[in-house]
Amino acid sequence: MPEKIQAVKGMNDILPPDSARWEWFEETVRALMRRYGYQNIRVPIVEPTPLFVRSLGEVTDIVEKEMYSWTDAMNGDALTLRPEGTAGVVRAAVEHSMLYDGGKRLYYMGPMFRHERPQRGRYRQFHQVGVEALGYAGPDVDAEVILMCRSLWRDLGLNDVRLELNCLGQAAERRAHREALVAHFEAHREVLDAEAQRRLHSNPLRILDTKNPAMQALVEAAPRLMDYLGDASLKHFEGLCGALEAAGQPFRVNHRLVRGMDYYSLTVFEWTTDRLGAQGTVCGGGRYDGLIELVGGKPAPGIGWGLGIERVLDLLQQSGTAPPPPVPDAYAVVPDEAALPVAVQVSEALRTAGVAVLMHAGGGSMKSQFKRADASGARWALVFGANELAQGLVAVKPLRDATASQVTRPLAEAAAWAAELLHR
Ligand code: ATP
Ligand code: MG
Repeated sequence: MPEKIQAVKGMNDILPPDSARWEWFEETVRALMRRYGYQNIRVPIVEPTPLFVRSLGEVTDIVEKEMYSWTDAMNGDALTLRPEGTAGVVRAAVEHSMLYDGGKRLYYMGPMFRHERPQRGRYRQFHQVGVEALGYAGPDVDAEVILMCRSLWRDLGLNDVRLELNCLGQAAERRAHREALVAHFEAHREVLDAEAQRRLHSNPLRILDTKNPAMQALVEAAPRLMDYLGDASLKHFEGLCGALEAAGQPFRVNHRLVRGMDYYSLTVFEWTTDRLGAQGTVCGGGRYDGLIELVGGKPAPGIGWGLGIERVLDLLQQSGTAPPPPVPDAYAVVPDEAALPVAVQVSEALRTAGVAVLMHAGGGSMKSQFKRADASGARWALVFGANELAQGLVAVKPLRDATASQVTRPLAEAAAWAAELLHR
């Protein structure tokens, strides 16, 4: 026997009945996007490597160690499987001059790839929903994208996801803060771990993000970026906080929230939960007013977020709020092959009328067919028995409702009684 081939580590198959929860989630997201006026955008999964290096920043976890990158054997192009969605969407917006007539509100869903250590909530192929609002500078749009998430949690029936916010200001403000930060860390070099030592001069802001318990006190005492912000940045942040308060959305200002990509400015935020263990961030995002220009476009502001679908579905499973997988309305039992053409025809007529009909396939005894009918979850069995057929009828037998009784219905007029199968 040939050896079995298995899926790549950290990359999961999504099988029924689990896939039904994915579909339900995706439909919930699409309905949300319609309500907020966000349009779908679909960009390639493979992009030129420099796109990510330039937009995420060279000294970031993703670019340093998480990207699936290779050289195209045919032409030597440096290519990468997208580790996140924003860079590709911004590239497409620039490439197609999408902002020539004003801002654009966009969303995407799809797989992302990062070479991380697989564990609960952390995979090598995972899936994100993301939104990008391009061309809008005001804090009202920051509030809009954040409140979209709240709306989504409500639609999904999730209630213990909390919002954390920070303001990263502008580049000049971050530079002034950075000097103070480096001085603070240099004065306590002995406390820094190897990673922090390495980042001290390349990306000291990221040290604030450390999970090392030995460094927590040092990081808590570090100078706060908020204290280096000028009036415009503070006004933007206050505008956002005011809009969230007016909308009744609680939040916590987390001065250590810096996020993993270099492209952020002003607003950054995360939605987190305690119910997923170490991988508690379900959604993260922020403003990236310099990114469009960095990717070669005319300067324009932008803000967006990315949400980890696996983590949200894990949360949903725990809260038990996702609807059960859909079941067929009716299961067609065909005791004799001779009845097949009629059974096919009636099933088709019922499906045209909106009824979900699962046809028995593969023959077998009545008993075994009824077993399948039961297992399918269908509410009705359509029994195409010889006696009924001879009278131009089909037997409609309730499978779930003990108080209902079996009836017969005319084969030729399926459209007329189809609706009976849709309601209990
Ligand atoms: P983390 O700190 O957990 O690594 P991150 O800051 O790297 O997250 P982002 O790049 O902000 O994550 O991506 C947005 C969301 O995508 C995360 O909040 C998370 O829900 C999800 N996500 C990120 N990486 C993974 C992964 N490897 N597997 C599953 N979901 C992920
Ligand atoms: Mg990460």
